[in-house]
Formats: sequence, C-alpha cells, structure tokens
Amino acid sequence: MKVPFLNFSPMHDAIREEMASAFQRVYDSNWFVMGKELDAFEKAYSEFNQTNHAIGVSNGLDALHLSLKSLGVSKGDEVIVPSNTYIATVLAVSYVGATPVFVEPNERTYNIEADNIANKITSKTKAIIPVHLYGQSARMDSIMELANQSGLFVVEDNAQAHGAECGGKLTGSWGHLNATSFYPGKNLGALGDGGAITTNSDEFADMVKMYRNYGSREKYVNEVPGYNMRLDEMQAAFLNIKLANLKKWTADRQRIAASYSKQLHDIEQIILPEKDEKCSHVYHLYVIRTNKRKELQEYLLNNGVSTLIHYPIPPHLQKAYDDLNFSRGAFPIAEKMADEVLSLPLWPGMSEDEINYVSKQVRSFFK
Ligand SMILES: *Cc1c(COP(=O)(O)O)cnc(C)c1O
Repeated sequence: MKVPFLNFSPMHDAIREEMASAFQRVYDSNWFVMGKELDAFEKAYSEFNQTNHAIGVSNGLDALHLSLKSLGVSKGDEVIVPSNTYIATVLAVSYVGATPVFVEPNERTYNIEADNIANKITSKTKAIIPVHLYGQSARMDSIMELANQSGLFVVEDNAQAHGAECGGKLTGSWGHLNATSFYPGKNLGALGDGGAITTNSDEFADMVKMYRNYGSREKYVNEVPGYNMRLDEMQAAFLNIKLANLKKWTADRQRIAASYSKQLHDIEQIILPEKDEKCSHVYHLYVIRTNKRKELQEYLLNNGVSTLIHYPIPPHLQKAYDDLNFSRGAFPIAEKMADEVLSLPLWPGMSEDEINYVSKQVRSFFK
C-alpha cells in the first residue's frame, strides 16, 4: 500500500462541479480583482471566524506583514514570536524592520504561553505573535490579559488553526489583527496562494485595506506607500465553496487524529500530540516525536508511507538569521522539536485502511 502525505482528491472530487461553475462564473464576469467574489468571501469568512472584519490578502506571510505594518510596528521595536514557528512568522517581523524575540513553547502543547512571554517583554516590545501550531489553539485568554496589561499588540498567526477555539472563542478573533493563510495544504486552502486578516477593529481594518491596495482608499489617491497584497476573485470564489465544507473537513481531521492516537498510544518510544484540555485542536498536522526520527521516516518511506518534518531547522539557526547571532543551545525546546518531530499523513477523506496501515507500520518499526 502507498500512503501519500496529503491527498486533495477526496475533498476536491466532492466539490468538482461547484468549483467548475465558480470558475466559469468568474471567467464570464470579466472582473478578476477586488469585486463581488472577494466581498462575498470576506463576509462569509468574517461570519465563520466571528469577527467584524475579514480582509482577503495575497498569502499568509503578507497577512502577517500587513498586520504589523498596519499596527505601526517598525524599526527599533521588538516582536515576540515562538522559537519553534514556521519561518514566515519571523520574516514578517523582519519586513517591518523590527527585531524578533524568541520565546520557547510549552513542551507538551508546542504553543507559547503568557508566563514565558512575560519574561521577554522589554521597553522595546511592541507586539506578540502567538502561533496556533499544528492546529491547536494557544491559551489566548492569558496572553491577551498580559498584552493588555503591558500595552502590547497581539497578532495571532492563525495559518494552521482555522476554526480552533479556546473557551468557546475562536482563534483569529482575539488579537488586534490576526493573520491566516489559505495555502493549498492548510485546513482551508485555495487553489494557489491566499490569506486573510481578521479583526474586530474598524480602524485597523481600514488601515489594512489601504495598505493592501497601494496605500489607497480612493483610486489614484495614495495616502501611504502601500502594497499590492490582494486576494483575487478566482481564489475568493474557490475559497467560498471550500469554506462551506470546512467544519465537516475539520471533524474528519479530528476523526483521523483520534484513530492514530488510539492505535499508537501504547508505544513508549513516541510522544503523541497532546490535547490542551482547555482548547480545541483542528489537526492541521498530526505530529509525533521520537529520537529515532530519521530511522522511522526512512522505514515508513520504504513501506510506502510519506511523512514530512515541520520543521527541520528552527528560525534562530537558519542562515537567513545569522545576524541575530544565535548558536545551537540558545532555544533547546525548539531545537529538540526540530530533531524529533514527524508529521504523519492526514487529510480529510483519508480512509480507515490508510490510517490503519500507517499505524501498523509505525508499530512494526518500534517492535
Ligand atoms: C503557512 C504558514 C504561514 C505562511 O503562509 P503562506 O500563505 O504560505 O505565506 C505563516 N505561518 C504559519 C504558522 C504557517 O503555517
């Protein structure tokens, strides 16, 4: 049996006709940027995310960048980010000229928490970017409380956790501006690049809309040196169809994760994803840990199972961040994760046979 890491077919086959007719509708409309499709998607996504505003943008990295820019974060400021995040979170901080300050995550949930964040706050700190890693919501209530006490902005990086919540409040609805990605492989994915910013603030939403479109509120009148970071009509139309299926697909991700956890829980040599009892997990990824990662990955591949590593090199050890002058040992939890994590295959529509086969191969490796 061959099990790929990800297979779009079960999702995409089920919506083939709808997607094709959306394509034709946009094709025939002769209108491709900033129109009805974007308006409709923004309305639907803001309702889904329970925020006053959702603003479609070009991708997740741009959503993070645009958020920091719109909040006025700039050179000389410090922005707190997890030491174990995807590089995009950190790049956005660099783009506005600010300095990333890394905070180690909780070793069990892999998310950063208020206590550790508090230790890194200085007079230069301007914002915190919590990341809901692998699909599990961070403890946002205490992070917001800390941010409010300290006068800091919060930008949630919600690229991996569409629809997750903590205490009944959704990820992407806590921070001042929140960024998400619709990269194809994300829980809500376009057929290309896409992203969004969600917020309850009219004022910040207005800034984002201006920056996203050349710094212009009125055509050919430019108030700030803005960007072209728009979400096009075709992607908005596709995303709207996929959004209507997201809850069902999320439930399926949770079914698959539960099945893996049930079949793998008694293997002592691996650490399974741990659910924070206060928050939900939408399993963008099912990530296990083992100090035999290389051998396990090879064994699985030889038996037809593809896996990935999210992520093999933590940001502070990337060549791109040489100038921050961190060496190995600076952030031991992030480094240990980079050495040990392995993401098992998972996609909505994955069959029981496939899940069982992957589980069986993992078991037989450790026997
Ligand atoms: C995917 C991702 C991003 C970047 O999104 P793109 O749309 O690929 O630019 C940012 N942060 C996290 C945590 C991600 O997983």
